[in-house]
Amino acid sequence: MIRVFENTDISTRNSFHVHQRAAKIVEFDYNEELPEVFATHVGEKWMALGGGNNILFTKDIDSTLVVPCNKDIEIVGKEDGRVTVRVGAGLEWDEFVEWCVERELWGVENLSLIPGKVGAAPVQNIGAYGAEVKDCITRVEMFFPEQGNFITLAAEHCGFGYRESVFKHSLKGRVIITSVEFCLSETPHPKLGYGDVIQQVEELGGATLSNIRKAICSIRRNKLPDTTVTGNAGSFFKNPIVDSSIAESLLEQYPDMPHYPAGVEGKTKLAAGWLIDKCSLKGYSKGNVGVHHKQALVLINTTGEATGCEVIEFAKMVQKSVFDKFGIEIDTEVNII
Ligand SMILES: Cc1cc2nc3c(=O)[nH]c(=O)nc-3n(C[C@H](O)[C@H](O)[C@H](O)COP(=O)(O)OP(=O)(O)OC[C@H]3O[C@@H](n4cnc5c(N)ncnc54)[C@H](O)[C@@H]3O)c2cc1C
Repeated sequence: MIRVFENTDISTRNSFHVHQRAAKIVEFDYNEELPEVFATHVGEKWMALGGGNNILFTKDIDSTLVVPCNKDIEIVGKEDGRVTVRVGAGLEWDEFVEWCVERELWGVENLSLIPGKVGAAPVQNIGAYGAEVKDCITRVEMFFPEQGNFITLAAEHCGFGYRESVFKHSLKGRVIITSVEFCLSETPHPKLGYGDVIQQVEELGGATLSNIRKAICSIRRNKLPDTTVTGNAGSFFKNPIVDSSIAESLLEQYPDMPHYPAGVEGKTKLAAGWLIDKCSLKGYSKGNVGVHHKQALVLINTTGEATGCEVIEFAKMVQKSVFDKFGIEIDTEVNII
């Protein structure tokens, strides 16, 4: 089924809850409907929209927002303790994680409670608590409106990196992801070495899938603002990756500065939240925008009345403060439209 909405308020379709309007929104339930969606309802300008949890709208949208609603989960293969599952782009990501945990399938449990749809997960290669979705994705299926056909990309061709993929670069704005294929494991692979996870899992009675999910949900609920109450888009900034020599000279001045191997020789990843906190900005607010008091990476719509442009202005102030203090540039993680 295809549903079309015209001149619609989109404050409930973005987690910052900014009040903008979209000229047209088209939802579709079945991937097979996409040729008709594009032939009949979508003009030249369009954009894929999931749950709007990683987007900041700064203006009314004159293009068509295309929203996949296919929520099917299908087991497509089982071999040597590995289960391959094909999931519709419109399913809530966390419903998929819950589905896996209930069936004792390992792989995505550390990504519990990340808001958004399955179709958006490969776009920025969602990650949390030492896990990245790229490690479980085998294929991504998509519709390519320029050619009017469906194509499938194997994971090794998706250009996955830290919050990166081909869908943010050469395929940006050119494809609609329709389904994602994951390979999960029946053999336990607990990843507990991040933050307070190990301690909480032990308190719950050990490293079962269900305990890991419970621990991560509890840590996230404690630390991050609830988007239904306070508008935000999770981490507004990416952790900067710098030359290791720069990290070393900063460490001389700030020995307690968190730093991690960036996975690339000669590069070190720093914690943007720590840098922002050190600028005394945690909990700071101005006008309708603020830095969350528990997690400095998260910018919030403090009054519910913030505009996208106000959030951008505030973000620039944060970026400038970090640059002035540390000489480090922090980039935005959120898609700014
Ligand atoms: C409170 C909170 C916590 C968060 N925590 C994390 C975290 O721990 N780790 C993390 O990685 N992210 C986190 N995020 C960011 C966000 O949850 C993810 O980026 C998520 O994948 C966004 O999903 P969405 O469906 O809302 O995508 P949207 O915001 O709707 O879209 C994001 C981008 O993907 C594109 N897109 C969406 N669907 C499709 C599709 N089907 N085909 C092609 N392109 C598409 C959009 O055009 C847009 O560019 C958090 C966000 C919030 C609000």
